[in-house]
Amino acid sequence: MEVLNGKSVFGGIAIGKISIYRKGDEQVKRYKIEDTAAELARFEAAKETAKEQLGKLYEKALAEVGEVNAMIFEVHQMMLDDLDYVEAIQNIIETQQLNAEYAVATTGDSFSEMFAAMDDDYMKARSADVKDISNRVISVLQGKNDAGLTSDEPVIVVADDLAPSETVQMDKSKVLAFVTRHGSTNSHTAILARTMNIPALIGCNYDDDMDGKNAIVDGYNGLFYVEPEHNIEEEFLKKKQADIDKKRMLQELKGKDNITLDGKKINLYANIGGVNDVGAVLQNDAGGIGLFRSEFLYLGADTFPTEEEQFNAYKQVAERMAGKKVIIRTLDIGADKQVDYFNLDKEDNPAMGYRAIRICLAQPEIFKTQLRAIIRASYYGTLSIMYPMIISVDEVRQIKEIVKEVKKELDEQGIPYGEVEQGIMIETPAAVMISDLLAKEVDFFSIGTNDLTQYTLAIDRQNPKLDNIYDSHHEAVLRMIKMVIENGHKENCWVGICGELASDTSLTKQFIQMGLDELSVSPTFILKVRETIRSIDTTK
Ligand code: PEP
Ligand code: MG
Repeated sequence: MEVLNGKSVFGGIAIGKISIYRKGDEQVKRYKIEDTAAELARFEAAKETAKEQLGKLYEKALAEVGEVNAMIFEVHQMMLDDLDYVEAIQNIIETQQLNAEYAVATTGDSFSEMFAAMDDDYMKARSADVKDISNRVISVLQGKNDAGLTSDEPVIVVADDLAPSETVQMDKSKVLAFVTRHGSTNSHTAILARTMNIPALIGCNYDDDMDGKNAIVDGYNGLFYVEPEHNIEEEFLKKKQADIDKKRMLQELKGKDNITLDGKKINLYANIGGVNDVGAVLQNDAGGIGLFRSEFLYLGADTFPTEEEQFNAYKQVAERMAGKKVIIRTLDIGADKQVDYFNLDKEDNPAMGYRAIRICLAQPEIFKTQLRAIIRASYYGTLSIMYPMIISVDEVRQIKEIVKEVKKELDEQGIPYGEVEQGIMIETPAAVMISDLLAKEVDFFSIGTNDLTQYTLAIDRQNPKLDNIYDSHHEAVLRMIKMVIENGHKENCWVGICGELASDTSLTKQFIQMGLDELSVSPTFILKVRETIRSIDTTK
């Protein structure tokens, strides 16, 4: 038996045979061509086929893992039309009279190296994407089909690294777990694994001769057992069965109240990134949507989404939630969420830069379009609006003026709308310290512990080197949460948490004792948090 260490990106136990996933033969031949026009046409046709394949993958991912995770395939489609990339390929074919496969491979390699050398983590991650799209075009040129998993029985997929397109193309019923040598916690593949509910390890240094061997993935402890001894296998079979029983038990909590043993109730809502995540919200019986990250509508588009496009998305969510509360957060771009068509300047300190509400107040035409869409959609359900990155009372007053203007315009045009609660994210230390004043201005607060931890501890949430000291349990963060709840309640302003800390069940009791009114978590965590709430006595 061999036990390898890895870093867990999603928990769970998998037992089965290893299947080492090897990318197709990527050796590309280089040869001279005579007819450059024909070769350019061949490249163009392959590019279009690759885009069609990506379109199908997008649809598949949309149905299986939701809009946010599917978006990467739209990004890949856009990358295939990138002028610099396309012109570099055409240039090699035309000026060097070389074959399309070689032109694509060379261009893919040099773009990929260029991205990998960049300082920005987001841009670095694009390196794998360029490789992925180039390999796809090469496969089309070589007449290969879409890659898939060949094994008949479900296997533990072990790979050097997995591109999102490879992950999503695999038949989910045949994948027990993912184990990769490379990759990062925030890679798209890690995110997909989490959404697919499949145990996954990264940073695991396996040997190629392990193909076909029996193994166990312990996603809870980041361990990979190859050819496990009998007693170890028995132990993990029991753990796996316990997991299955647990999941079944959690299903029984559907329809039950979020109430503690001593009778305290709390609202349990879900976080979403788009219309297609609503299915998971309903399946897991969330009481509402506590955070709709509307920026994903902008991130998934190649130009500003129109009022009508946004209205349709918000209306659909409102209708599908059938009167349950839906809190739409206005555009929160900038920092790690960059959108090309906004043409934002490169900044030295983007997390503290021109982002979120700062953009909306400086460019009110963008803000008003979104507000009109949300307020119009409020006619079809129970919508609330929430503003990100607030640091002052003045900002809130400016926003309220703009909302008034929008409503006045809608009145003049005879367009109906419903009651809309307005709230703010509390995610800066400034907002915490003046929460007594802010509470007089709004209906609710939602604490964004992801950013609040970053700004309070002065730790960049994107920097993997600081992962071990990025501590949302820090006493400073917990005291801030308590202060916000107390200040909010003095002014009848309800208070929730929508950052990742909301699903940390080791703190649920403390949050309820502090008087928190709402927790908003990823849909998959709803029933687990409900179970915790129902098991605690806040008087003890
Ligand atoms: C937060 O900062 O806690 C939050 C919920 O917002 P985001 O993670 O989208 O910045
Ligand atoms: Mg935030």
